[in-house]
Amino acid sequence: MSLIDSYQRRIDYLRISITDHCNLNCLYCRPLGGRPFISHEMILRYEEILRIVRVAVGLGVKKTRVTGGEPLLRKGVVDFISRLSHSGIEDLGLTTNGILLKEFARPLREAGLSRVNISLDSLDPRNFQRITGSDGLGEVLAGIEGAREAGFEKIKINTVLIRGTNETEILDFAELAFSRGLEVRFIEYMPYLNGKEWQRDLYLTAEEVKKVINTRFLLQPVEKQEKSGVAEIYRIKDGRGTIGFISSISQHFCESCNRIRLTADGKLRNCLFSDEEIDIRGPMRDGVSDSELAEIIRGSVKKKPERRPDFYCSFKKCTRTMDLIGG
Ligand code: SAM
Repeated sequence: MSLIDSYQRRIDYLRISITDHCNLNCLYCRPLGGRPFISHEMILRYEEILRIVRVAVGLGVKKTRVTGGEPLLRKGVVDFISRLSHSGIEDLGLTTNGILLKEFARPLREAGLSRVNISLDSLDPRNFQRITGSDGLGEVLAGIEGAREAGFEKIKINTVLIRGTNETEILDFAELAFSRGLEVRFIEYMPYLNGKEWQRDLYLTAEEVKKVINTRFLLQPVEKQEKSGVAEIYRIKDGRGTIGFISSISQHFCESCNRIRLTADGKLRNCLFSDEEIDIRGPMRDGVSDSELAEIIRGSVKKKPERRPDFYCSFKKCTRTMDLIGG
């Protein structure tokens, strides 16, 4: 069984946000001044998420990534990961800001988590504090070590660069990748922020970042493998780590997009850049059958847009910020 959308793309990847709570306040992610949290009853219970996953697996979904908000803040996450790892999913990842990872890495690994991505935008304590509103850089670095000690093999670091904020750290991140055997992935800053304008000159294109790295290291493209996903990967000669570029803005990859998202409050979203969402929580709580749930998932996939809106002409910021969508 496969989920094929209207443009013949096979959808086999479900990203699941399990909470809208976060212990960081990254300036590009959460609205300034905060916002009310989604009420407890609106948040999907683990049991409900697992049911959706089982139905999705029956439709051909093979890969999932747990995200948020900060997923490690949700009570019972380790047990949830363990149950998810027995749901028929072949590839189970999690994205975290790393603050709590040191204590969670081993239990998560033992629970069956295969991969972990850690978000880190600065290696400088003052800059880290400016971006995240927290002085937890030491915790994140300890979390990276913890993940390595727990036996996670390919640890990926997600870094969002914003001009005037952290672009001076590009070479430090490249050094981190090559000296520590990590995969640092530079993600182009995307327009999500209610209240504060995203400006196109604030984001750095992958090409600009490559130029900076090439001033010190000679980047060599790595042939695309199935698991590299949307990133374009490079290594340096004799270096252990790799550098990835996720160019959602400068070079969209909609034609190979294979994902849909489930928000913490039970909406299916078929494109990161679209506000269209389909409620799955309501029907599920009204008692629909598994085959009706499958129809709702198919309906969302059928409506998946061919590509994201044209960013230079009609770009519209999403009404939900990333912490609510699950980046
Ligand atoms: N709390 C977890 C974390 O920090 O990784 C998971 C949720 S967070 C929303 C997931 C990812 O979305 C992070 O890597 C973050 O940097 C990224 N993100 C959030 N807002 C973004 C934006 N406007 N542009 C690009 N990436 C963004």
